[in-house]
Amino acid sequence: MNGSEINSTYAYSLHGNCYLNVTNRCTLRCRFCPKFNGQWLVQSYGLKLYREPDVDALIDAVGDASTWKEVVFCGLGEPTLRLGTVLETARRLHESGVRVRLNTDGLSNHVYGHDVIPRLANVIDAVSVSLNAQTAAVYAVHCRPRDAGAYPAVLDFLYRASDCFAEVTATAIDGLVGVDMDTCAEIADKMGVSFRRRELDKVG
Ligand code: SF4
Repeated sequence: MNGSEINSTYAYSLHGNCYLNVTNRCTLRCRFCPKFNGQWLVQSYGLKLYREPDVDALIDAVGDASTWKEVVFCGLGEPTLRLGTVLETARRLHESGVRVRLNTDGLSNHVYGHDVIPRLANVIDAVSVSLNAQTAAVYAVHCRPRDAGAYPAVLDFLYRASDCFAEVTATAIDGLVGVDMDTCAEIADKMGVSFRRRELDKVG
């Protein structure tokens, strides 16, 4: 399959990148998330999964990896909830020479109870972490984590990630009530990572 022809549930193409839709499961229940508003279409791609893809299905969906600028684990779900699948898929992609990025909520260490960053950093070049708020209280309003440890865990993930990945970017969404983008950018700066303002409902 030629990379530019991909328009499937498992992989979709935007801006010359291939995005992998690994799971619809999430650690969070973000109020702004399209799926919690009954919307599974993201820029014309239907991202509802009826079955989670295995490693071979994801590699097949990528096609010729050399046709992409980068391959990104993203989609309407938290990729690291399928840690083994992400690690093995990323390993195979990384070996092929394509740049690999992970978009994550930064809660994998919190979920697994130990530091999984070194294993991710072995096979992933860049990571984008949803910081989303400048305080735990604002984070709780918009992201609705299951416990109060989530926001500190995101900060800890960012801090550790800055030493392990070639490129780390914290992100927050412009326009959400109470989210102070300048303070989010300052937090990223203190952590030694880049910062990117995201637009609501835009995946990538
Ligand atoms: S982490 Fe992403 S996919 Fe999951 S609920 Fe939040 S916005 Fe939606």
